[in-house]
Amino acid sequence: MKIAVVGTGYVGLVTGTCLAETGNNVICVDINVEKVKKMQEGQLPIYEPGLEQLFHRNINQGRLHFTTSLAEAIEEAKIIFLALPTPPGGDGAADLSYVLGAAKDIAGIIKEYKVIVTKSTVPVGTADKVRAVMSKETNLEFAVVSNPEFLREGVAVEDFMKPDRVVVGTTDERARKLMGELYAPYVRQGNPVIFMDERSSELTKYAANSFLATKISFMNEIANMCELVGADVDMVRRGIGADERIGKRFLFAGIGYGGSCFPKDVQALAKSAEENQYDFQILNSVMSVNEIQKKVLVQKVKKFYNGDIAGKHFALWGLAFKPETDDIREAPALYIIDEIVAAGGTITAYDPEAMPNIKNLLGDKIKYAEDPYQALDGADALLIVTEWSVFRTPDFDQLTSGLQSKVIFDGRNLYDLDKMEDCGFYYNSIGRRVVE
Ligand code: NAD
Repeated sequence: MKIAVVGTGYVGLVTGTCLAETGNNVICVDINVEKVKKMQEGQLPIYEPGLEQLFHRNINQGRLHFTTSLAEAIEEAKIIFLALPTPPGGDGAADLSYVLGAAKDIAGIIKEYKVIVTKSTVPVGTADKVRAVMSKETNLEFAVVSNPEFLREGVAVEDFMKPDRVVVGTTDERARKLMGELYAPYVRQGNPVIFMDERSSELTKYAANSFLATKISFMNEIANMCELVGADVDMVRRGIGADERIGKRFLFAGIGYGGSCFPKDVQALAKSAEENQYDFQILNSVMSVNEIQKKVLVQKVKKFYNGDIAGKHFALWGLAFKPETDDIREAPALYIIDEIVAAGGTITAYDPEAMPNIKNLLGDKIKYAEDPYQALDGADALLIVTEWSVFRTPDFDQLTSGLQSKVIFDGRNLYDLDKMEDCGFYYNSIGRRVVE
């Protein structure tokens, strides 16, 4: 099938590449000229495990193309995916200007029936808005489909190639058939393609992300309780996770959720509820718990130094909002860096993939190390912010000799408490006893 993908970010590029992988002919279009040039030259603009190989293979086999021309991209495409940003607007609601703008442009170009698929995360009612915008520009027939994306950065290729489920919201029979055919190779093991109306599909994505964010905030509150009553959140997690109704996944306490999706999607759903005169109480709590949790690690640091960290130097491991990505949008590290620098502390940071993005954003606000141990040089303490595998089993001797003092603040609960005790570290993590 001939496919166009509008927007080549984490979602668009993975979507385009994975759709090419099953034999479709895909043209990806982006307004970022530099990015498109890079991709045309065979350079991958993002880090995403497993993507590089598929990207090169499909370019080399002539199924994956890049352009800055929307007209060229959609000319022959039967299905046009919109994988455009939907950032929070000033009031917290999703900003639909990218999606509606592209829909308008597309409507002005098309010469035959097309299926327009919204892959971006968009509020309920967006399919109707897209339809309305397009109908003003064209008398031709078209279908608007909601097909929210559930991939996780870091395992995006795997998620796209073998999705737990695919959700397709459409009331157009032709579109339904085409979408069914397109996704058939990805659900051969029997995972469902769930067809529904557009509104339910749009809400499904927000419900999924908000539910996951709720799990995180809930466990963070349990962690805070653990610290107060002398319990261990890891034990509690294992204890409740063994119950199949609860499940083992997504129960790790930490320093709050970040990234480009959870914060904005929870906020957008709350805003959407408000617009419908509904007070979505749980979501409001999920957000305020997260705001508090983002501050927990820095509070622990400040408390340890009796409120005065001016002149202290910190090693910081992990900048990406989660492991296996270079994405730093809404990363907890950003907040932590801001707070520490504002209080007069200095930082040398290391991250396996996110260093270029952080350097672009922060410049010389902090120093950068070439490996985890170099970051320790002269540091008063180590702060662990992202749970990259490489930080899980470090050389504790090198840690001891690198740091000025044997002090670790761990926002991701990476190390065993007894081990830290044996090694003689001061070790302060989340929802567990402090090793002193
Ligand atoms: P992104 O910011 O990484 O990428 C967006 C791309 O769109 C950029 O390359 C940008 O240059 C391009 N763009 C902007 N305006 C354009 C236009 N008019 N024409 C062509 N290209 C244009 O965004 P993303 O992370 O891929 O997210 C896209 C959407 O998918 C959002 O709605 C997001 O909520 C949703 N989503 C994201 C994830 C994720 O993990 N990142 C997962 C599921 C859903």
